[in-house]
Amino acid sequence: MNQVIELIKADVKKEKPAVESLGFGKHFTDYMFVMDYNDEDGWHHPRITPYAPLVLEPSAMVLHYGQAVFEGLKAYRAKDGRVLLFRPEKNVARLNMSCARLSIPQIDEDVVLDAIKQLVELEKDWIPNEEGTSLYIRPFIIATESSLGVHPAHEYKLMIILSPVGSYYGDQLKPVRIYVEDEYVRAVPGGVGFTKTAGNYAASLKAQEKAEQMGYDQVLWLDGVERKYIEEVGSMNIFFKINGEVVTPKLNGSILGGVTRDSVIQLLQYWNVPVREVRISIDEIYEAYQKGQLEEVFGTGTAAVISPVGELGWKDIIMELPNAEDPDTIAKRLYDALTGIQLGKTEDPLNWTL
Ligand code: PMP
Repeated sequence: MNQVIELIKADVKKEKPAVESLGFGKHFTDYMFVMDYNDEDGWHHPRITPYAPLVLEPSAMVLHYGQAVFEGLKAYRAKDGRVLLFRPEKNVARLNMSCARLSIPQIDEDVVLDAIKQLVELEKDWIPNEEGTSLYIRPFIIATESSLGVHPAHEYKLMIILSPVGSYYGDQLKPVRIYVEDEYVRAVPGGVGFTKTAGNYAASLKAQEKAEQMGYDQVLWLDGVERKYIEEVGSMNIFFKINGEVVTPKLNGSILGGVTRDSVIQLLQYWNVPVREVRISIDEIYEAYQKGQLEEVFGTGTAAVISPVGELGWKDIIMELPNAEDPDTIAKRLYDALTGIQLGKTEDPLNWTL
């Protein structure tokens, strides 16, 4: 599909940041995509305009009741110059799933996918090509209607902004330290945990702050009822290799179904490595650790792709995972395979890049 998107040209272009100063989500490209919604016209007026501040009513509903959903995916530049997107249709489908739960009108997934492609094509000079860098794509939708009544808004904006990014944790495969949070929870059954809505991230900050104060990188969330079963990490899904088998918590309505998680499961199946989606408690993880059967722990997500976990802190227990730095881990094999596919360096056996 190739829709007509109005292009409003930028008078001046920004200087592109040096690779060393990229960081994550600090710099934005020259253009953004915008589309509006009202009940009369539906989603309308798709346009690419210069990246600029928004004009919003102080009474815009998103500022009060948090009707906001978003996505995160990346464009990569292959050695031969091709621009590659990794399974973007999965992100657009997940955006619609988030919309459904937050009472935001459904988007036409083909229209949004095409908007992503057209915007990235226009801004392709912004895609850095050093190891570990990419162009992060952030589609999002906010309720713009001016009203203080609590009800689903009647007006929205969908926008897509682009940010050239470096590697998420600095050194790509440096093991991270994770704190198992047993006081605060991220999501509850029947809630919005499976969506990418702004409030989930606001609710996670307190525990993240606490973990950082203790010297950890991220939080591992437990379930919101018994605070016993493993859910996911701040912005990653989690996998454990126990006694030769790879397991990950099964999607239960309070965990975000990561695109990387799905890709890891499919790749392991393709390689005939045993993998299972399970309900697993932190006690079972600790038991496996004590028996010497916890071979690997790693997180999966768009930002860092695969993050080996070098240490899990739970109450006053510290589980050290010295294997995290080994050169022949499943985490390393997955990282090499996924980044190889994303950068067009290797074959793409499951046809994931566009
Ligand atoms: N869980 C949460 C809470 C996240 O924010 C993310 C990042 N989107 C993930 C898991 C990983 O999802 P994905 O692999 O699609 O990036």
